[in-house]
Amino acid sequence: MRLIPPRGRFMLRVDDLHVRFGAIAALRGVSLHINQGEIVGLIGVNGAGKSTTIGSIIGIVRPSQGSISFENGSLLGLAPEAIIRRGIAPVMEGRRIFPALTVGENLRLGAAIRRDPAGIQEDLDRWCAFFPILGERYHQSAGNLSGGQQQMLAIGRALMSRPRLLLLDEPSLGLAPKLVAEVFALIGQLRELGMTMLLVEQNVRMTLNMVDRAYLLNTGAVEFTGTAAEMRQHADFERAYLGGAGAAAAATDAPR
Ligand code: ATP
Repeated sequence: MRLIPPRGRFMLRVDDLHVRFGAIAALRGVSLHINQGEIVGLIGVNGAGKSTTIGSIIGIVRPSQGSISFENGSLLGLAPEAIIRRGIAPVMEGRRIFPALTVGENLRLGAAIRRDPAGIQEDLDRWCAFFPILGERYHQSAGNLSGGQQQMLAIGRALMSRPRLLLLDEPSLGLAPKLVAEVFALIGQLRELGMTMLLVEQNVRMTLNMVDRAYLLNTGAVEFTGTAAEMRQHADFERAYLGGAGAAAAATDAPR
């Protein structure tokens, strides 16, 4: 099963993005792009500007300068729902599922913008097979799921809008190491299906093992960018973000 055509075609382009919150310059000229079929990482410490970048892309933060285009149409000024209709689905930090609703009701909410009941049912079946725990717990309250399962539900719900680009904001946040590994394995499976993704993470090492390319944000600006291998090999980056363990050591746990 492939969700989309082969990789390579330009998809999202962010140019010279500036965002201010009062006196704080949260983004100071961020530019990045994502090609179809790529997984691109956006990494950086707390406060670097990762969530502000995602918020700008999905229309909940208003940039003061710059441009954002998706498949050649500008996203600037569009409401979040219109941006989801264009084919971008966010999985926001903190999971934000509806705990009092069932797993199935949460999944269906992801398809709220769609009007094709047969296609929605097809996708429910597809994603419940892909995430078996969601199928097993379909009629149970989402609030009873573990943290890792809730993260899978949040990702499944986003997939229900049939996005062409998935934005994952810190999917490993607050999860125990074993669950972090499970969530990353799942992202790897989505990559195999051909899903294009922007992966926002503080977990630099695991992110570099997963992505094709990455951007390192620091105080609202892109400090480094390159392929995962190029970033690992950059001495300053390696020293500051990979704990100085050596590029070779970082590469040994890389599956790709
Ligand atoms: P984290 O990993 O903690 O989410 P981040 O890299 O996503 O960090 P942002 O949340 O984008 O960083 O924050 C960038 C800067 O903008 C920080 O200085 C932050 O304090 C500030 N900021 C973010 N949102 C707001 C807001 N709504 N009001 C005021 N300042 C904000």
